[in-house]
Amino acid sequence: MDNNNKNRKNRESNIPNKKDNKKNLNKVQDQVFVFSKALTVAELAKELNVNPSDIIKKLFLQKKIVTINNYLSDEDIGEICLEFGFDFKKEEIIDEEDFEKLVINDDAENLEERPPVVTIMGHVDHGKTTLIDAIRNSNVAENEYGGISQEIGAYQKVVNGKKITFIDTPGHEAFSAMRSRGASVTDIVVLVVAADDGVMPQTLEAIDHARAANVPIIVAINKIDVPGANPEKVETELMQHNVIAEKYGGDVMVCEISAKKKIGISDLLETILVEAEMLELKANPNRFAIGTVLEAELDKGEGPKATLLVQNGTLYSSDYVVVGSTYGKVRRMTNEYKQVLKEALPSTPVAVIGLQEVPKAGDHFMAFPSEKQAKDIAEKRRLKKIAEERIANSGVTSLDNLFDKISEGLMTQINIIVKADSTGSAEAVKSSLEKLNNDQVKINVIRNAAGAITESDVLLASASKAIIFGFNVRPSALVRKKAEEEDVEIRLERIIYALIESVEAAIKGKMKKEEVETVLGQAEVRNVFKVSKVGEIAGCMVVDGSIVSNGLVHILRNGINIYDGQIESLKRFKDDAKEVKTGYECGIKILNFNDIHEGDIIECYKMVTKDE
Ligand code: GDP
Repeated sequence: MDNNNKNRKNRESNIPNKKDNKKNLNKVQDQVFVFSKALTVAELAKELNVNPSDIIKKLFLQKKIVTINNYLSDEDIGEICLEFGFDFKKEEIIDEEDFEKLVINDDAENLEERPPVVTIMGHVDHGKTTLIDAIRNSNVAENEYGGISQEIGAYQKVVNGKKITFIDTPGHEAFSAMRSRGASVTDIVVLVVAADDGVMPQTLEAIDHARAANVPIIVAINKIDVPGANPEKVETELMQHNVIAEKYGGDVMVCEISAKKKIGISDLLETILVEAEMLELKANPNRFAIGTVLEAELDKGEGPKATLLVQNGTLYSSDYVVVGSTYGKVRRMTNEYKQVLKEALPSTPVAVIGLQEVPKAGDHFMAFPSEKQAKDIAEKRRLKKIAEERIANSGVTSLDNLFDKISEGLMTQINIIVKADSTGSAEAVKSSLEKLNNDQVKINVIRNAAGAITESDVLLASASKAIIFGFNVRPSALVRKKAEEEDVEIRLERIIYALIESVEAAIKGKMKKEEVETVLGQAEVRNVFKVSKVGEIAGCMVVDGSIVSNGLVHILRNGINIYDGQIESLKRFKDDAKEVKTGYECGIKILNFNDIHEGDIIECYKMVTKDE
């Protein structure tokens, strides 16, 4: 622990000293004018010690009409400098809110070797999953924890005393989804090609992805155990696509393996180490951690949970981190074997709990020295994200008037926000919705994430006239009120096809009279009493609306709908009650449900037939 603390104290910040930056703001040094932000004519004139009217004249001669208070473009500033005999340089100020763009230049002496991060790609059925399993299970006896766990989507393997990090989601969708979000986590791509099938369309796509990301490829020719397997043919085919094996004079290392029969696996692992050595992968463990979210979900018991890949620096448990636009304190950090870790060095994947909200795969994270700093930065990033997401358009705010708008020719795009209980179902909902696109309607999913419906979702929906779809998640009473105020429609569904049907019906203008849920109120569970022969009674405080004795209920835990049922009995003290209103305590027994927890929300609703 002492050692641990000592390391933390010695950590360098990722952010260059701000004072140094200030010093360089708009400075003329040796006839070089260094600037870092947009300047007005007056400001530039002052910095260059020239007359503003001279600047205006020079620009006028170039047919550019400006006044003394106009801001100048970088090019104009550059030209003016040259006109007045100065060289110029635009200096990027590193903005700690924008840590994605941070370029870290560690001094060579602080750099240490780090494990390579490997992604396995290839055509479907060529054996990616089998290979991942074979690697995971190889040398289990050597494994220091002895077990195999699928706890997180990445794992490390020790080969000849050196670690290799494998990202566990095979396929190039995950790889390109990350890249489209600006995250590059992979150092080496292992391209699996089946020896009995050869180069296939997704093999080529994988090659393109790896090339676009400038990541070296190692070819694993798989299924060499299959009769008729022809590795030579695979190599020749690959050559046509400029993937040239070493034995043919190229620079691509090729291994022949059978993932199923576990042949050639250790050879492949050693090849990865050789490639890694050539890449000279290094990082500085003595700085605040920075890295990328590999996956994230809302865990029923533990709240937001994210798998982070530390890419530089060391992440310590109890560090404060900003992740995407949320933040938190690392409450617990575990590896793939569910072992609790105190620290995670560069290239280590860890599952982390303690974040305020569920981030997205591909989000960047960075650790900060104090909670206040992390919180402030996260808030600024959140506001910036909302601003960016504000897509002005004439969308719809309610499914009911959707068809009217379409038939009036007003509608071309429906903005939708999808919140679901896991990243997987959010993706599934999104892709199902997008399949509904037709000539008249474009479904535009503007936010798609795991987690409860939050105020920020409502704000975004309001700003971009979007409808919010909650899939197995629900809003709190506060968020619901906010949605009413902002006139934002929230649709809650538990089955994908019901959700799709309601959107489809709206698109086709066939919105039938239907029964809809009307929320009556919410009660928070403060105590749970176990009564023999009766079951669990929830001691509650009604926090919104009212709870009625014959009401239907959803049980919400951390915003996730974990159970749908019905109230069996509702009591005030010892007496049966018909209705209990906000601010009053009550005892609730849910029919056939005995897994109530303190902190759960019991949401009471009734079904109401909706008017046409
Ligand atoms: P993925 O779609 O690329 O993840 O492919 P899978 O790992 O699911 O493998 C597809 C099929 O090929 C499965 O039936 C595997 O058992 C089989 N398979 C994978 N590797 C080998 C191998 O080395 N030899 C043989 N004979 N079959 C394999």
